[in-house]
Order: sequence, then C-alpha cells, then structure tokens
Amino acid sequence: MLVLGAGVIGLACALELLNRGARVRVLEQAVPGAGASHGNCGTITPSHAPPLTAPGTILRALRSLGRVDAPLRIDPRPDLARWRWLFGLATQARPQSFWRASRARAALLTRSRELFPSWLAGAAIDAGWQEPGLLLVFRDARALAAERHYIETLHRLDIPARMLAGDEVEAREPALTTGVAGAIEHVGDAVLRPERLVAGLAARVQALGGVIDTGVRVEGFDCADRRIVAVRSGHGRFTGDQIVLALGAWSPLVVRDLGLRIPVQPGKGYSITWDAQAGAPRAPLVLKERSVCVTAWPDGFRLGSTMEFAGWNEGLNPPRLAALQRAAAEYLKVPPTGGPREQWWGWRPMSRDEVPLVGPSGRWRNLWLATGHGMLGVSMCAATAELVAQQMSREPLTLDAAPYDPARFAL
Ligand SMILES: Cc1cc2nc3c(=O)[nH]c(=O)nc-3n(C[C@H](O)[C@H](O)[C@H](O)COP(=O)(O)OP(=O)(O)OC[C@H]3O[C@@H](n4cnc5c(N)ncnc54)[C@H](O)[C@@H]3O)c2cc1C
Repeated sequence: MLVLGAGVIGLACALELLNRGARVRVLEQAVPGAGASHGNCGTITPSHAPPLTAPGTILRALRSLGRVDAPLRIDPRPDLARWRWLFGLATQARPQSFWRASRARAALLTRSRELFPSWLAGAAIDAGWQEPGLLLVFRDARALAAERHYIETLHRLDIPARMLAGDEVEAREPALTTGVAGAIEHVGDAVLRPERLVAGLAARVQALGGVIDTGVRVEGFDCADRRIVAVRSGHGRFTGDQIVLALGAWSPLVVRDLGLRIPVQPGKGYSITWDAQAGAPRAPLVLKERSVCVTAWPDGFRLGSTMEFAGWNEGLNPPRLAALQRAAAEYLKVPPTGGPREQWWGWRPMSRDEVPLVGPSGRWRNLWLATGHGMLGVSMCAATAELVAQQMSREPLTLDAAPYDPARFAL
C-alpha cells in the first residue's frame, strides 16, 4: 500500500495498516512532519468539536478583517477557488450544518482521545502525553458571558466543560496576570509534544517494516479502468494495490490527473517556540480575546495562533508573530524570555464543511482519502487511522463512517 504524505495523518494511517499486517510505503516530499504536524500547539481537544462557523461567528470575523494582526485574515485578492470555498464555508453557519459538523467532529475527537494513551503506549511512543485539561481564559466579562451557549453546545455533545470565576482561575493558574474575568475549563482535553509524536510515529512505522521515502514529491497519477496504476514522482513511478492520500493542505494540488476537486484550502497559522520557561502555565491555555494558544511542556514553551486564508502562501509574517508575543505579555506574568528556538508557519488543511474527508473515493477504486482535518489533525489522528485501517481491512467499524465520506463532495 502507498500512503502519500508523512504528516500525523499519513503516519498514523501507515502505523494502523502495518499493525494489521499490510506492507506499507510512505511517500513524503520533504521529511516526516514537514507540513502542519510539526510546530502546532499539540493540544488534544474534544472541546473543539463545535466548528468555527457557529451561527454569528462569521459576522464577528468579518468585523476584525481590517486589522493586520487580527486572528483571522482573508486575502481580499481575487481567487475564484478560494472565494468559492469561503462562500461554501459561510453557508455552514446554518444551525443544521453546524450540528451535523459538531456531531461528526465530536465522534472522531472523543474516540481519538479515548484511544490515545493506549495507542501511544502500544507503539512505544513517548510524545510527552499529559492530561491537564485546557483553560479558555477571558479578560473581558462580556466576552465570557457570550460563550455560555458554547458550554451548552458541548454538554449536548457529552463533552465536559464548565465556567470558572476569575478568582478561581487566578488561584488555579498563578502564571496569569490579575484581571481575569473567568475561564471555561475543559477537563477532558490533553496535550503532547507534536514533534515527538511525529518522530515516534515515523520510528514505529519503520520498526514495523514500513518504508518512508523522504524527498519524494508526488507529481501525478497513471490510471486505467478507474484504478490508479502508478504514482508518478520526481524519483520515478511507485505502485501499490491501495493508495491513501494524506497530503494535508496540499491534497487538492496533486489530484488534477484524477479529476478530483478536493474542497480543502490552507488555513495558515504561526507559532514561536522557546526552551522551557520559568513561571509557565500548568495547563495549556487559550488567551481567548487574542485567540492565542499557550502550551508549556517540561522541555519547551510555545505560542501559536492565527488563521489566514491567503492561498498556498509560504513564509513567516512578522506582525502576526509580534501579535503572539503581545498577547503573552498581556495575559502572562512572565512572558517568554530569551531567543526563540523556532519561528514556524504551517497550513491547516481546512475542509469546506470543517469535517475531515476520510474514506474511499467513489471515483477511483483503490484510492482512500484522509485529509481536511483543519485545526484538529493531531487530536483526530488516532481515530482517523483506526477508521481508515478498519475500512481498508473490511473490519467492523467503531465509528459510523458516513459523516466523513468523501462522497459528500462527489469525490
Ligand atoms: C499554528 C497551528 C496550531 C495548531 N495546533 C493544533 C493543536 O493544538 N491540536 C491539533 O489537533 N491540531 C493543531 N493544528 C492542526 C494540525 O497541525 C493539522 O491538522 C495536522 O498537522 C494536519 O496533518 P496532516 O498529516 O493532514 O497534514 P501535514 O502535516 O501538513 O502533512 C502533509 C504532508 O504531505 C507532504 N506533501 C505535500 N505535498 C506532497 C507531495 N506532492 N508529495 C509528497 N509529499 C507531499 C507534506 O510535506 C507534509 O509532510 C495546528 C495547526 C497550526 C498551523
């Protein structure tokens, strides 16, 4: 079997297929984790089951668009594919679509969260797994009050969440500056170090006999009789009886030969990483009014955020990196000091309905999709891999596969 892409999704699928006795080769244009799976915030968040396009969010987002450092940025230049995709995304704010996406995301997130501890242990991966929960911290009481419906939504999805008063939050998290209005606590969330997860998955895949070909860029496909007969790359042709496409935000770019229009756009984000910091928060935080995530591990400290829809645009953006540091200075008693280890950007593979595309292609008999995980690829990787491997091995399925079926986009 060929797995295209060595991000968390491709590697997790490769591992689960190897666990079922398959022969697996992974093709990666750079190195494992070179895409979005390396410098992300590493939070495992069933709490993020409700999609971004909740009723009302679009209007709030549009209001912030003029600011160069706003958490959301949309490049206003004409690009038909992007604007068509954005329009499709905006239509998801209807209540019926919101609940459909929330339930689909909740099932994959909850199953992944359940699998993670034993999955990591079974593969002997030390990714720094911890279960400290997550706090969404508010300094503005009105903003906090406006989020009550978010807690109700989570409760309807059977995901725990509760409101904490400002003094409770300050007592719980001495790293925060005073003036906290309150927080929403997600006790079920967890955290790991994503670089270590990727390295551990890659090592395990190889230990089980899987091959990871790095520096191999997929360029196209040779097809016959509704099957992919070979994958073309700069390093020659590769064959496999089944092909799993897990190319993250790059997915739509390589499927032209297949006549597929995968509705995924890159949602660009940034992070800055330091060595471990004294006075760092105990649990991961989201600094809510600034939409910045703070993750402190025993061996590092990271600020990450922003969602930029600007096409496949590469490189760092200094005003956005500066906004991360300003948020830390506002919320944390001891903002990170010393030169950062790394400044990073990555493309979240954002699907048009904010639900990943996982399952068989209806158009190509031996093609499987595992892409479009947006802001949640790390959180969802264990259950995605389980679903893909169960489907490919024709095993009974743990989850209902229908909500993730690529057929909803005629793929
Ligand atoms: C700032 C930020 C913070 C985030 N925080 C979190 C978080 O806290 N929790 C969470 O769950 N998620 C988080 N995410 C989202 C998460 O990072 C992604 O959902 C996840 O990494 C996607 O994994 P993937 O394997 O689908 O894609 P990728 O990791 O992007 O992997 C795709 C791979 O395909 C390779 N590739 C591309 N084109 C080709 C080609 N033609 N040939 C061969 N190989 C190719 C790429 O090099 C890449 O390695 C965050 C993202 C960002 C940007």
